[in-house]
Amino acid sequence: MIQILEEKIFNTVWTIKIFTEKRNSSRVSIVENQTIHIRIPTYLTREERIKTIKELIGWAKERVPISDKKETIEAYQRSNDTRTDEWLEKRLEQIWELLFPEVKKLNNVKVIFKGKWKKKFGHIKKIKEDSEIAVNNILKDANIPEYIIDITLAHELVHYMHGFNSPHKKEHKHPHAGGIVSSELKKRGFGVMIKKEKEFLKKEWPKIINEYYKQGSS
Ligand SMILES: [Zn+2]
Repeated sequence: MIQILEEKIFNTVWTIKIFTEKRNSSRVSIVENQTIHIRIPTYLTREERIKTIKELIGWAKERVPISDKKETIEAYQRSNDTRTDEWLEKRLEQIWELLFPEVKKLNNVKVIFKGKWKKKFGHIKKIKEDSEIAVNNILKDANIPEYIIDITLAHELVHYMHGFNSPHKKEHKHPHAGGIVSSELKKRGFGVMIKKEKEFLKKEWPKIINEYYKQGSS
């Protein structure tokens, strides 16, 4: 069964296609042409269904690539003072719940802003029994779109589920073997964001890094 809704996000009307399928978990993905796909299991009750759809639309709404400049600037300004470690923790929780629901949390997973790296957005480390996900402090900068942080968290979660610096069973020899991270991210609805991230890395990141180190900002 497919249900179609329309939702205005900033100045654009987005089509939301809701697929009710025989599956175990819900998924949301932002696809091209202003479309959002939501997949939910048939067994949900009416109330659960409404609640899940609302949550998933909310998630997608915050992450659609924005083209309206004024709105973008406002979104940036909003994010400037909200990017704290607590905020980051909630963000990871949300991504985990909505997009990696079957991945078990087998140990304590800490997430923090850390470092000022020119060449990476984040990493995952094992510290004793815990796992630590770190996100580059530079990404706190209000000029950096939030989806960069989301995709960084999701990237590290993929390493976690693949057993790198986590208690999960290691399925591959190397963390990035054969594009395993990208293909997992695409499966989980990050396809459009991966493209945007590549563009961002090429066009925006070098400018940000230059500016950042010129100012000697801390
Ligand atoms: Zn990686």
